[in-house]
Amino acid sequence: MSITAIVILPSAVLCFLAFRAVRTENVQQQFQQRQRQRQIALVLEAELKKWLFSGGQDGAISQALLRFHISGEQIVFPSLAISIPPGKDVRPVPFSLPNSPVQDQRTIEEIYYPRIQAFLRDLKSSRNSGAQYFRRLKAMVVQIPATNEGYVLSSTNLTHYSQRKLDELTAPETFRATFLLDESRDAGLASAEAISLDDFTFFQIGFGSKEAGRFDVRKNFLLYAIVLLTLITISAVVFVYRGMAQEMAMTQLRADFVSAVSHEFRTPLSSMLALLERLELGRVVEPGMQQRYYQALRQEARRLGLLVEKLLDFAQLEEDKKKFSFERLQLSRIIDEAVKVFKESAFHQRIEQACVGMDTAINVVADRTAIVQCVQNLIENALKYSPPDVKVLARYGMKNGTPFIEVIDQGIGIPVGDREKIFEKFYRAENARASNVQGTGIGLTLVKRIMEIHGGSVGVTSTPGQGSCFSLMFSNTKDALE
Ligand code: ADP
Repeated sequence: MSITAIVILPSAVLCFLAFRAVRTENVQQQFQQRQRQRQIALVLEAELKKWLFSGGQDGAISQALLRFHISGEQIVFPSLAISIPPGKDVRPVPFSLPNSPVQDQRTIEEIYYPRIQAFLRDLKSSRNSGAQYFRRLKAMVVQIPATNEGYVLSSTNLTHYSQRKLDELTAPETFRATFLLDESRDAGLASAEAISLDDFTFFQIGFGSKEAGRFDVRKNFLLYAIVLLTLITISAVVFVYRGMAQEMAMTQLRADFVSAVSHEFRTPLSSMLALLERLELGRVVEPGMQQRYYQALRQEARRLGLLVEKLLDFAQLEEDKKKFSFERLQLSRIIDEAVKVFKESAFHQRIEQACVGMDTAINVVADRTAIVQCVQNLIENALKYSPPDVKVLARYGMKNGTPFIEVIDQGIGIPVGDREKIFEKFYRAENARASNVQGTGIGLTLVKRIMEIHGGSVGVTSTPGQGSCFSLMFSNTKDALE
């Protein structure tokens, strides 16, 4: 089963459930909050009624701006010394009170009349209403229920009183409330919901959150925590899974290596045993043939020797125990020595040597055995991974002031995805394994480490199916060039 099925799917389901749980909780919280807001609106409404119609010292009426009474069809404002008839185009009638100057006609008509007329229309059209908001006068008009008496109150007083009460009521809550008159809503509460006071439809309470930012974070804290935890879990599992996958791949590579090494030992050993057996039994009598048998035995023994050397070098490099002794060497000599190893084998005919450019005496500072071994490894690979009769070329020269050795073949090439990995220990490209060519996967690892120790590098260019070119680039030490 893949990691998606084991970890990611359950985590996604867990996240979804957590999200739903938190959402449901939020919805419930919102519902409770809404209930609480309605209760506050009812309480305020009751408080307001008590205050507006109470004649006591703290009541609204005691702070009234004007007093009026309804006399028949007329409304009389004694302090203004006018009475207002309900008819449409009928003018207010001035009258004089004892000890009060009669309001002159102009003042009444221009200042009071148009405003009071508007108020009257409202008052007359809704007989049951005990209170009216007289917007143009910024006043609140109250008719005391079941009486003919009424008062005009300051809307500022009304707002202050209501807001104070609201502040008291919402003190322990997570939301705030603002008293709103008519449609003059507070811009800051535009997004908040408003609740109307039912008996006074022109009053509203707007609700908003006290500390929007902090409140939201706190509300969603559980959700964030769960999502974070799930992400951490997924990352941890992916991390462990990848580690395990790498470990398993390494174990597989090691197992392949052991079987490859055994195979590499077994092949020359079996052919050596077969040759010896024939010699022992005296089946090879002709001296020329005997000579060829001995040559073949030496070649197989040398092959075994090289393999053992490679394994020992690899082990020493792995443990950082390999000793190097540096000297000045000519690139041409290094290639000569490397090619010499193949002298007695059939491979020798296939190796060509060349110098790039006019300068044939290029020096580097290097450990002779180690560098020769590197070139040998590259030549051996070039021969192994090419068709039997095709030549390989080992050449040297200077590129941009850097000494180099290149080994070029026209073999199977290396797939793009494997070009980095072939330098990792035990790694063998798929096409190499498929072509049944034997190998241990440590040759290039050795080359890379040795070149790094020399301050140089190894690189490869390749076209699958056409061939490869491996380059050893040396650090251009002044000492070597002198
Ligand atoms: P091996 O013993 O398998 O050759 P190396 O470390 O020398 O181990 O090489 C690692 C792998 O690099 C090889 O298994 C092969 O896949 C690839 N490789 C190396 N040289 C060549 C080449 N000249 N042509 C094609 N593939 C090569």
